[in-house]
Amino acid sequence: MARYTGAVCRLCRREGQKLYLKGDKCYTDKCQIAKGRYAPGQHGQSRKKLTEYGVQLREKQKVRRYYGIQESQMRRYFSMADKMKGITGENLLKILELRLDNVVFRMGFASSRAEARQLVMHGHFTVNGRKVDIPSYIVKVGDQIEVKQKSKSITKFKDLVENHRGTTVRWIEIDLENLKGRVVSEPTREDIDLPIEEHLIVELYSK
Ligand code: SF4
Repeated sequence: MARYTGAVCRLCRREGQKLYLKGDKCYTDKCQIAKGRYAPGQHGQSRKKLTEYGVQLREKQKVRRYYGIQESQMRRYFSMADKMKGITGENLLKILELRLDNVVFRMGFASSRAEARQLVMHGHFTVNGRKVDIPSYIVKVGDQIEVKQKSKSITKFKDLVENHRGTTVRWIEIDLENLKGRVVSEPTREDIDLPIEEHLIVELYSK
């Protein structure tokens, strides 16, 4: 399925909650969810009771939208998670968190996952000294993620040193002065601050 290119606030309205897809705007009163906008479409205002399948589907769609991934990728990650030791739902979230675009976002080097994805695709990052421009690249514990030497002089990254909000996760160590970070441990479920009921996704894909 093609990547969604429409208005992203519409996706939050569809899910009825903030998905934080627009960076800084999401924290202002310009946010459409903060303004109390309904779900899109003619029947957006009516609240239909969802079936069990509907609830599971919405949870899966929400997670796809948080991380900006397509259905085929999501299924692939689920299959990987299912083969790993431990709880499948938690494994799935761990894989999603370890995507390079998400790590760049978690490092505070981009204001949204979409921006992080774009920065990675434009080749601004290295992993262990080698350029990686694949947003879905899965990093490992010990990997060092750094802004490419040539990119450190661009305004976006020069400003970052002053405007950085600080990392939100304890599993990445940041060296802001040198515009790099290191994954010090795998994220645990407690580290993932998103309101997700991952067991619903497992139930959906296990049918
Ligand atoms: Fe969602 Fe952000 Fe738009 Fe609010 S501003 S509706 S959180 S994308």
